[in-house]
Amino acid sequence: MLSLGIIDTVNRMSTIRTAKKVLYELKKAGYEAYIVGGAVRDHLLKQPTTDVDITTNAKPHQVAKIFKTKPTGLKYGTVTAIYGDETFEITTYRIDGEYLDNRHPDEVVFCETVEEDVKRRDFTINGILMTEKEEIIDYVNGRGDLQMKIIKTIGDPVERFTEDALRMMRAFYFQSKLGFQIDRETRDAITEMKENLRNVAMERITNEMIKILQGSYVKKALKSIITTGVHQVLPGLEKGIKYAEQMDEIPFVDAFFTLCFTLHGSVPSDWPFSNKHRHRYETARMLADQHQSFDALTLYTYGIDLCLLANRVNYMLKRTKNLKTKIELDYKNLPIQSDLDLKIRATEMITLTNKKAGAWVKNLQTEMVIEVLNKRLKNEKNALEQYVLEHTKE
Ligand code: ATP
Ligand code: MG
Repeated sequence: MLSLGIIDTVNRMSTIRTAKKVLYELKKAGYEAYIVGGAVRDHLLKQPTTDVDITTNAKPHQVAKIFKTKPTGLKYGTVTAIYGDETFEITTYRIDGEYLDNRHPDEVVFCETVEEDVKRRDFTINGILMTEKEEIIDYVNGRGDLQMKIIKTIGDPVERFTEDALRMMRAFYFQSKLGFQIDRETRDAITEMKENLRNVAMERITNEMIKILQGSYVKKALKSIITTGVHQVLPGLEKGIKYAEQMDEIPFVDAFFTLCFTLHGSVPSDWPFSNKHRHRYETARMLADQHQSFDALTLYTYGIDLCLLANRVNYMLKRTKNLKTKIELDYKNLPIQSDLDLKIRATEMITLTNKKAGAWVKNLQTEMVIEVLNKRLKNEKNALEQYVLEHTKE
């Protein structure tokens, strides 16, 4: 699901302008429909938005009769409608929480009124509705909380976090994105309920964590994560979050995770990173611990990227000066950057020596690479041929 340390942004660009036309089409067919969620919130904040969600009493199969659709989230009553070159997530009024968790684990429970649909949503600022005429309908005082810059659950926060503990991470995400305060009751509920995060799928937590790290107010969010104690339930991040929160500039995703796992001493298996990313964090962490500086062999073996990442972590931890420029220059000046750069091929080594192919070829190549990197041997055909002959004498 999650690939690389990068958030899985589905390519779904849509605008309020076109969404209003979609609402109009739905109404023309006899249904109710509203824009809801982040798009209304961002519109009222005069901030750009990338995706517009629509809520309607039309059932998915009825939506599919009006628009070209893709059945993206049928389980949740959602279809993606294509209108012009834009796509919209259109979701049928539904309730969830208790119902989805216990009584009807696999089926979506539709409801009659938009008010019920709004009440199942996470925060008041995400529960504001907008019509095709840009009229605002607000059952949850979302507009008031937007003005007061407050993140507050719709309804009792303990109940809402019991239904879905991920909402606690989402509170920090909206804080990181918008810079708002988390309402006292909501914050207290997070402090009380944080252990429930241990039962949430790590893919979902990872997604929110990455979004938190990308927000303009990430420092504020990290502070709240610490005051509520949530850093203690995020595997391997406790020390890193406390350390990063004190920094002038919070490191971005890769550097942040590497910093955390260096301080923690390992990359906990809980995180569903791709193998490539797990390896990256593990190796950079090990390099940071073992190297104050990066010699030619280390640069050659691990590559510039990992060495720069390890250097960054050491610099953030005040273990060394920032060696970025030196590393870049040293890497550029390496006599070879891969064994393909060695000016003698395996086949040439075999012809030259009249020996059978075997492990000796690889071993000798490795030896030559080290000699070349240490500037004891020139990467020139003659010199390498002579080295091969000297080192294969019976
Ligand atoms: P963003 O700007 O990041 O897209 P958003 O508010 O649109 O923010 P989404 O994750 O796109 O957030 O979800 C769309 C809407 O669905 C939310 O605004 C909220 O109303 C509702 N929602 C999403 N996740 C949850 C959840 N876990 N619990 C309750 N409601 C949710
Ligand atoms: Mg959204």
